[in-house]
Amino acid sequence: MVLNCMKELLEEGDADPWVRDICQIEEEIRVPIVDLSLKEVSKRIAKAAAEYVIKAREQHESVGAMPVPEAWFRLPMHVDDSWSSRIINQCRSGNLLLGNRAKNRLGEQYKYCPWCEETGRIQRLSEVHVILECGANSSLRRRLSILAFVVCVKQRQAGLSNLRILREYLGQDGAMVGVLKQRGRAISSMVECWFQEVAAI
Ligand SMILES: [Zn+2]
Repeated sequence: MVLNCMKELLEEGDADPWVRDICQIEEEIRVPIVDLSLKEVSKRIAKAAAEYVIKAREQHESVGAMPVPEAWFRLPMHVDDSWSSRIINQCRSGNLLLGNRAKNRLGEQYKYCPWCEETGRIQRLSEVHVILECGANSSLRRRLSILAFVVCVKQRQAGLSNLRILREYLGQDGAMVGVLKQRGRAISSMVECWFQEVAAI
């Protein structure tokens, strides 16, 4: 009966706002909805939504380090109320509150890394820079085995950009929950160290 109602509505044309919504969905899943089972419609909508997210990630560098989830639309295993989980998620969404997008805890906002600028180098401030590149926390990077991780990834896949390496570090490499949380703690230490160095300039 619902299907018949829908067919009738669709025959009426696109004046009805519900019909316009359905037409939009049909455009996304590239097939008339009434020709599919409910299960198939749901599957195709999920696929179209995932494609949309991946496309959006390509267009916005700030979320470029976000890994593709193992299972879409399901809470990942590492997500809980712990701060290590929060740091991982903040980093995945490209917002470690460094001051590159809005004022940071020091009340400052920068386009370029202030520590590198002080040493005569112009480096865009980003999560990738602070975790993988900046000289302000390079010895901690080594101590926390982040550098060893980078070397290992580069040996496996030569030519990978630092953005892609950070994506691996944030879970794209299939790391288990415990390892991922450990990385969250390492990222937090790297950020704290960077802030200390910047505050001391
Ligand atoms: Zn720097």
